[in-house]
Amino acid sequence: MKIIQERKLCIGCGSCVAVCPDYWEMAEDGKSHLLNSKKNPQTGNPELETKEAGCNQEAADICPVQCIRIIK
Ligand code: SF4
Repeated sequence: MKIIQERKLCIGCGSCVAVCPDYWEMAEDGKSHLLNSKKNPQTGNPELETKEAGCNQEAADICPVQCIRIIK
C-alpha cells in the first residue's frame, strides 16, 4: 500500500506526529514530514510504499484537513 500526503494542504497542526511518530515528524517549514517518503515527480506529493498502514490510519483519520491518504 501507499501513504500519500497532499502536503500543500497541511496546516502543521502536529496531530499526525502525535498519533503516529514512527512515520511522521515536524519539518522546519512548520508542516509535517512523512519519514522515508519520496516526492512524486508528477504531483509533488510525498509518498511512501509500505506493507502495513499501521498508525497511518489514525493519522489519516485525525488530520483536520484530510491531506493524508492511504491507497490499498
Ligand atoms: S495532521 Fe494533517 S494538517 Fe496536521 S500536521 Fe499532520 S498532515 Fe498536517
